[in-house]
Amino acid sequence: MKIKVVIFDADKTLWDHYNISEFEEPIKIINRDEIEDIKGRKLKVFPEVRSTLEELKRNNLILGMATWNYPEKTERMLGILNLRRYFDVIVSRDFPFKFIMISEIINELKNRGISVKPENIMFIDDRRVHFGNVWLYLGKVKCVEMWKDISCHSQILKLLELNS
Ligand SMILES: [Mg+2]
Repeated sequence: MKIKVVIFDADKTLWDHYNISEFEEPIKIINRDEIEDIKGRKLKVFPEVRSTLEELKRNNLILGMATWNYPEKTERMLGILNLRRYFDVIVSRDFPFKFIMISEIINELKNRGISVKPENIMFIDDRRVHFGNVWLYLGKVKCVEMWKDISCHSQILKLLELNS
């Protein structure tokens, strides 16, 4: 079944910090991929993230985000890092249940007239613990464990058989 939607976790998947909800203003931009908050917390976007997101969009994939963070923090980080524009649907919640977030994404796409089956979805997360419930409640989502199943983001393009 053809993958139409790629859904990303954020913390420890797109960037090295484990919890962006901890970040406090003011946030300083160190460079394009690095920021630091008032308390010295630092975040760095992983290599190849931008180029991979760019390539996925270029190949007309729908991009989603499912992250356990306060929504306003997620919006702020994506805005400050200039990553917001890649994502078609962002679901950021103050609970850890990825299968609920992924169903919200499916519903939102349905509202936009896009029908997506679980087998059309690839979900990328650094925590395999989420995958069981995704399979149990949603079905055959293609779950990819970041840093185990793949060691860098450009391998997502290979999994999808896209030329990079
Ligand atoms: Mg994570």
